Amino acid sequence: MRTNQRIRKRFWQIVGELSVRKAPKLFGLFDPAPGKLPKLTRKWRDKKVAILSGLVEQGNLPALRRWVNKSTEKAEVRFGGRVPKNDKAIVVKDSLIARGHQHRHLVYVSFGRRRRCLKVGRSDNGLDRIANQWSQYYFRDARRVAVYFPNKRKTRMLPALECALTHLFPPFHSYQKPSKRKYAQKCLACQQIKFVERTLRKLFPA
Ligand SMILES: [Zn+2]
Repeated sequence: MRTNQRIRKRFWQIVGELSVRKAPKLFGLFDPAPGKLPKLTRKWRDKKVAILSGLVEQGNLPALRRWVNKSTEKAEVRFGGRVPKNDKAIVVKDSLIARGHQHRHLVYVSFGRRRRCLKVGRSDNGLDRIANQWSQYYFRDARRVAVYFPNKRKTRMLPALECALTHLFPPFHSYQKPSKRKYAQKCLACQQIKFVERTLRKLFPA
């Protein structure tokens, strides 16, 4: 992972904290007055593992962005003040069809005020899936909607694409984890997070 210095430093710092609790005698050798260290409890460990997973997620964002750019075509619809709230989802569908986007598979991201992400969702049923949700707040309150169409006709990448976009644009109201399909390709960040969690639990059993 190519990532910045701050994330790297924080990562090693936490791995150090975990190591100290795992082997206090070893890491206390050069400490003249080793205070009694709290034990490595499962709760404490899992908190640290969660922080490390967050760092891995952050570190992966540039790569996810590159992957999304490379593997999709993006189209966007912005709303001026004049579009009625109930029409926005339908406007997205109509204007993208007018621009020649007839894809069946897509991921959409809606943004509200202050660039807040309101929703990340996917469709295997083309733009109808968007239009059908016209009554939802995430379209009614949208300032713009971005739609990503996968380059290749690979439906298997759709869940990974939705997942990647959820990492990049965590929805403001609830960080909904996208539903996963068992055999579908996993997004880069989730692959690494899984690996890191598994490895840490093995190294620091509690
Ligand atoms: Zn993911």
